[in-house]
Amino acid sequence: MNFDTIIGHQQQIKMLKSAIAQQRIAHAYLFDGHAGIGKKLVAQAFACSFLCETGCGCGRCSSCTHLAAGSHPDVHLLQPDGETIKIDQIRSLQPQLALRSFAGRGKVCLIDNAELMTREAANALLKTLEEPTADTLIILISSRPESLLETIRSRCQRVRFTRLPRLALAHHLEHDLAISAAEALVLAAVADGSFEKALGQHQDLYLKKRAGLIQSLSALSSTSTIQTFELAQTLKAEKDLIGEILNIFDIYLRDLLLYQHGQPVDQLINQDMLPLIKQQSCRLSTPQLITKLGAVAQARTYLGRNVNLHLTLDHMLMQIAHA
Ligand SMILES: [Zn+2]
Repeated sequence: MNFDTIIGHQQQIKMLKSAIAQQRIAHAYLFDGHAGIGKKLVAQAFACSFLCETGCGCGRCSSCTHLAAGSHPDVHLLQPDGETIKIDQIRSLQPQLALRSFAGRGKVCLIDNAELMTREAANALLKTLEEPTADTLIILISSRPESLLETIRSRCQRVRFTRLPRLALAHHLEHDLAISAAEALVLAAVADGSFEKALGQHQDLYLKKRAGLIQSLSALSSTSTIQTFELAQTLKAEKDLIGEILNIFDIYLRDLLLYQHGQPVDQLINQDMLPLIKQQSCRLSTPQLITKLGAVAQARTYLGRNVNLHLTLDHMLMQIAHA
């Protein structure tokens, strides 16, 4: 795992490489930015270069080999135990950070989803941040840094990560997944710049099921009781993916609205469904589209409040069909 294998984030990587080259590494960093865009990969590459015998993450030295195998004695990865990172996890880390490093190059502690530290855990970590040992590098990774204690944030050098540009992500997806350029563009757009989303469990949904779901949605009308019922059954069967499916509906309805208001077609997201988008945006009025978008937004709010899934979906589809 070194910097060369990472896609995007070139500015951040340049800064971290130069910190290593000039031996001006802060004791603690906070890597923040949207979930799934590669913050942890950059943190691992940084740890790798920091500990590497050649200083560049060679991939061949004993340190790099141990790190790749997940067995480096000087690297500690803290992740939530259940819902939170607990004080016991921080306490068991502290004596290890106080010891000399095994390989003599330093110790690294990565805290992933750092915002999930309990208040007690955060206060315990604060002690470590206040009294850093010379050769320890602590990297906090968070997509919600505002949830961290201000006293923790202020003791870390902040490195902000942004979503990968859509075209850059699409280019890599096209190559990595051996899919068409049009599919790659759609996947990059619906994954919202997140590699984890694009390559993860949602890939099948985005590439294979999306078009069918959108077609079913666009076929709904006040006289389509059977289609509404069938789509409701399909959605209920995909209940683990419902947030993503609502996202797909949202993006499609927005495409219709944008096309209606003169947005150039190459800026729409569902590039592979332009004939349907053109046809539907002529058929539907702006107030109708806004009502449909409102129904999707309301369903999302209801699900966030744990309202019954079946009732929520039935209600949403009825509103969309009758708009
Ligand atoms: Zn190495």
